[in-house]
Amino acid sequence: MEIAKNLLEIKKGLPAGVQLVAVSKTKPNAAILEAYEAGQRVFGENKVQELAQKYEELPKDIEWHFIGHLQSNKVKYMAPFVSLIHGVDSLKLLKTINKEAAKNKRTIRCLLQFHIAEESTKFGLSEEEAMEMLDSGEVQALENVEIAGVMGMATYTDDENQIRKEFRVLHNIFSALKNRYFATSGSFREISMGMSDDYPIAMEEGSTMIRVGSKIFGERNYQH
Ligand SMILES: *Cc1c(COP(=O)(O)O)cnc(C)c1O
Repeated sequence: MEIAKNLLEIKKGLPAGVQLVAVSKTKPNAAILEAYEAGQRVFGENKVQELAQKYEELPKDIEWHFIGHLQSNKVKYMAPFVSLIHGVDSLKLLKTINKEAAKNKRTIRCLLQFHIAEESTKFGLSEEEAMEMLDSGEVQALENVEIAGVMGMATYTDDENQIRKEFRVLHNIFSALKNRYFATSGSFREISMGMSDDYPIAMEEGSTMIRVGSKIFGERNYQH
């Protein structure tokens, strides 16, 4: 009951155009089903094996997003069903996703992940790296991936100004890439930013997709 209540509470505050990804990593199927029965259909996981297992066991109309750091050799396990990969940070990875998507006769939507936080432990491209990748034309030539936007994680801090500044950086990167490479593409439109502790700020800064876990499902026993 708690899960359904949390979920509805969050959904109440979502403006039109912002999608909620319920981050269910480490949580059992029963918890996911409770959210499902309350109407949630979009879930995010950050471990490929856990994602594939949950896909097998849970209702097939769930839309699964991969939000973790992805290794090329794991792409094949989710290529048949994943609907959005949030954390793409290299051309090599995009090429692998393209190959595996083609094998499954699919197009897989991907977000480019940017490093916007102060912490060096977080993954992601710089704006320059992304431009280099896109200038080469190799990304646009991949027929089975669709670049759907950008994703980033802010610094883990209580300093709201810092968080806001980082989300603003991501929004600016989105706009720059949109203008330069995707001006005519309707599919480049997502800004995935905001987690349990900072999603209200992210929405104020233009997020189109928030990834919320503990605020829905409760604290996790271990951190990924
Ligand atoms: C775990 C995780 C989340 C959700 O975190 P909460 O703080 O529990 O909301 C969002 N995004 C990514 C990339 C994550 O790994």
